[in-house]
Amino acid sequence: PQAASGEQSAANLFRIERVSDGVYAAIARPAPMLNCNAAVIVTADHVLVVDTHSKPSAASALINQIRREVSDRPVRYVINSHFHWDHAQGNLAYPKAFGESTEVISSTSTREWMAREGASRLRQSLAALPKRIADLRTQLAAAKIDGERARLTEQIGQLEAYLKEMNPPEKQITLPTITFNERLVIHRGGREIHLIFLGRGHTAGDVVVYIPSERTVATGDLMHSLLPYMGDGYPEDWPRTLVALEALDFTHVVAGHGLVQQGKSILAFFRAYIEEINEGVARGVERGSTLEEMRRTLAPDGLRSLKMGDQMTRLAREGQGFAGVPLAGAQLQGAVAANVTDVYNYYTKRRGKS
Ligand SMILES: [Zn+2]
Repeated sequence: PQAASGEQSAANLFRIERVSDGVYAAIARPAPMLNCNAAVIVTADHVLVVDTHSKPSAASALINQIRREVSDRPVRYVINSHFHWDHAQGNLAYPKAFGESTEVISSTSTREWMAREGASRLRQSLAALPKRIADLRTQLAAAKIDGERARLTEQIGQLEAYLKEMNPPEKQITLPTITFNERLVIHRGGREIHLIFLGRGHTAGDVVVYIPSERTVATGDLMHSLLPYMGDGYPEDWPRTLVALEALDFTHVVAGHGLVQQGKSILAFFRAYIEEINEGVARGVERGSTLEEMRRTLAPDGLRSLKMGDQMTRLAREGQGFAGVPLAGAQLQGAVAANVTDVYNYYTKRRGKS
């Protein structure tokens, strides 16, 4: 059967689960325009939300779901863990729903990046959509199986809705209203919520949101359950920043993508993986290896970090929940190759400048 409407049912974007006392995770379901997870923190008199997804309508859907499933207290603070589109493009929904005094908080660097790059990156991504939609229409015309036709129709509808919602790009980017450099602490009802910049990693300005009393941390994309995106990253600093994260006393993690984590074993893997890719590429560049050679030597089969515990099995499963495809085989190969390429560009571009 064909999907009745192109718009993915707004009630179906997130699954909310309780993480610790007053802390919830909104885990994003797979979507053609990716949504990040949100952490939802309820205090004595208000709600605080970490990250706002790819579009205001996704954030609005979460606002409604929070009211239904978590709390009817108003959202007073919104935090952007970093500047990426899938974490900050929904900001606008919060002042719209709760008034102009709703504060959006980020690191100083995140606000600068958002101001400089937000609208232009969004414009670029919108410009690429008509071709992606046309390709899906070609696939749809050739598709024979009902399920496949329904899936493609749904994807096309969602991409068209996104294109419509996000135009014009300048109007959609809502910058943070409060910024800080190192640490900002919100004190409410005897509980502290720490917003901490631990150092550069996934971007120049990642912050983690740490609730010491609940031993819970929201990590954005500084550390999550899949493989990292390294295109705006600082691979030399990132492992050190993750050591600083590991030093915090926590047992529950709401990450920017993937399932809620218990303990620090995924963090240990994530750091080992970034370290291994960084060291492998840095050494290769030093020796004058080509990118193609490095993509061969640093393929999944040769990586020590991927052999830690049952990480391969876990990644395959997490990929299924995140994108609807297991992160294994060609998918895993592609993800690792993208990381190698991004780190290679980091070193060669930086060299070009010096
Ligand atoms: Zn990101």
